Amino acid sequence: MSDITQSEPGCVRKVTRPDCPLISIVAPCYNEADSLAPFVAAMMGVIKAGGARYELVFVDDGSADDTRAELLALADLHSQIRVVAFSRNFGKEAALTAGLDYAEGDAVVVMDVDLQDPPELIAAFIEKWRQGYDVVYATRDDRGADTFVKRYTAGGFYRLFNKISAVKIPENTGDYRLMDRRVVETIKTLPERSRFMKGLFAWVGFKSVGVDYARPARAAGTSKFSFWRLWNFAIDGFANFSTAPLRVWSYIGCVIAMVSFLYASAIILITLATGNDVPGYASLLTIILFFGSIQMISVGVLGEYIARLFVEVKGRPIYIVDDVYVGSEHGAAQPAKAAAE
Ligand code: UDP
Ligand code: MG
Repeated sequence: MSDITQSEPGCVRKVTRPDCPLISIVAPCYNEADSLAPFVAAMMGVIKAGGARYELVFVDDGSADDTRAELLALADLHSQIRVVAFSRNFGKEAALTAGLDYAEGDAVVVMDVDLQDPPELIAAFIEKWRQGYDVVYATRDDRGADTFVKRYTAGGFYRLFNKISAVKIPENTGDYRLMDRRVVETIKTLPERSRFMKGLFAWVGFKSVGVDYARPARAAGTSKFSFWRLWNFAIDGFANFSTAPLRVWSYIGCVIAMVSFLYASAIILITLATGNDVPGYASLLTIILFFGSIQMISVGVLGEYIARLFVEVKGRPIYIVDDVYVGSEHGAAQPAKAAAE
């Protein structure tokens, strides 16, 4: 065990890190058969470099391709690999949640398997963790691999999110990060079903630091996040971390009421002064359509929150595990139950 007093200004907490810690790598996989072998090869390079022990926790998020077979073959070769297989596709956020539940390390790194999260960064993560940081996240200083539209919309999302949410997410930060065991344990106590992990990671706080990197393009396969999926993801972020969209309608209502009062006063004055020749078809129609749409938008926003209440109240599990396999150097990967017997 090494005791380190943090050298950062204003920080005097003494932290203890094991000399040879166990680092869990949590990687969600959905239809990633082609990415797995290069990913594991790259991770073996990190493992061989030493300085820590590693376990690789792969979560097969109900893949429809050969991902599970590929994972089992790899687990057969490498004893550090564990595979948690879902009963169907539950989404990346659920897969990350499961990964954190099954990881046993002193620190946990969550990363994608498409090599867009470069494994070389893990050494820098561990270095910062040893210095006393509880969360070390990767910040994309170059999004050259992303399309212009994705860069632009992602930037807009983070700026708006950070304006309306009490929890601030560092800009250009994905899920790729290292978290100390106590951070992981805290996240595991959060019971919500509708999980926006980036928000939850930020919500728990702890002493955090970013490490810059240039995000490369995918090594193999294609992105699983279509524009529609990203849109829903963004709505999840807003609705799970801010009540501003819900509360803003009182203020919009007040402004509209004031404008309506002025408009009504003007109509009364004009009618008194000039007599009533029943004009106003166009203005009436415009006003009716305007209020109709304002009301529909506000009802839609209510719906977003009510839908989330509905999901939470049902209290269904976040994911369902079909099987867990532990890696073995001596034989075929066994389901964890069988291996334990
Ligand atoms: N992923 C997952 N479940 C899903 C969609 C994606 O586990 O339903 C995983 C995927 O296999 C990858 C990671 O989440 O390891 C990031 O996905 P992707 O690379 O498609 O996202 P992008 O990098 O384009 O944002
Ligand atoms: Mg990717």
